Amino acid sequence: MHNFMFKISSNSNRNRYFHKKYIILLLFLFVFLFFSSKFFLFSSSFQNIFKNAKESPNFSNDRKVMSVHVLDVQKQDAIYINCNNKHILIDSGEYSSFQTVDSYLKKHNVKKFDLIVATHPHTDHMGSMSEIIKNYKIEKFLMPQMPYEITPTFKSYKLMLQALEEKNVLVLKPNPPEDFQVGDMFITIFAPNKEYKNTNNNSIVMSVAFKNKKILFTGDAEKESEHDIMKKGFDIKANILKVAHHGSNTSTTTAFLKSVSPEYAVLSTSDEYMEKFGFKEPDSIKRLESFGVKIFRTDLDGTVIFRTDGEEIKVECEKERKYN
Ligand SMILES: [Zn+2]
Repeated sequence: MHNFMFKISSNSNRNRYFHKKYIILLLFLFVFLFFSSKFFLFSSSFQNIFKNAKESPNFSNDRKVMSVHVLDVQKQDAIYINCNNKHILIDSGEYSSFQTVDSYLKKHNVKKFDLIVATHPHTDHMGSMSEIIKNYKIEKFLMPQMPYEITPTFKSYKLMLQALEEKNVLVLKPNPPEDFQVGDMFITIFAPNKEYKNTNNNSIVMSVAFKNKKILFTGDAEKESEHDIMKKGFDIKANILKVAHHGSNTSTTTAFLKSVSPEYAVLSTSDEYMEKFGFKEPDSIKRLESFGVKIFRTDLDGTVIFRTDGEEIKVECEKERKYN
């Protein structure tokens, strides 16, 4: 009896044991099926995501790349250029834009500039230059010598000169046509070709080339300066044009556009400025469109970045356009 009882109890234990085993096995099977189905679902949507994904704006790490950042600082110019650890700044924007420009540069780990260009003495181009000079190491500083009768007397201009003097920065004046190198970048100066009565026309016009790709920077140069550049017969053909004077109709003549024949154009402007044209595009933009140029604008695209390995150009914009 005792044995029998024992048998029974041992049998029921074994049954319970098998029962437990089946439950665990079923659980494993369930968990496996659950996760594998999840995985297949995930992998298929993962593939779908990549079907529509755009190509990364970055080039592979083994290639040297020049990047040109046209900062969104309203109707002002501030352009940062980087190539293989060499840094250039073309204009700085207004005094009030210093924080924006400074934090952008810090984000990109900039501590020193191999070249700074102040295209012309208007505050929307050099208003915060004194702060830039105080806060960064500068190798060379290029700015136009202004005709005596229009020498600026406003505060931010004086502060800029004072800062340059205090830091003993090497200041150069443009002497077109001249070219020089900043690392792997080739700089060519095209203007100003004489002393103009209009400050905008005294803007430094220059190109920066990296291998086979070139970008032309025009400051706020107007049609008189454009005309003189062409009269000199300079080769101003470029892949990208930084449109002069925030897209104003004072610049970007048809003849000038023919000479540059860009694929891309970029202009720094603001909603308020475009309102002046009743949100209709100024004729200068229409001229760019008629040439089939791809136009980027800081008022619509935010900060615009061009990257090139010298063969191909990729464009990255901060914002998606609300309208176009
Ligand atoms: Zn301007």
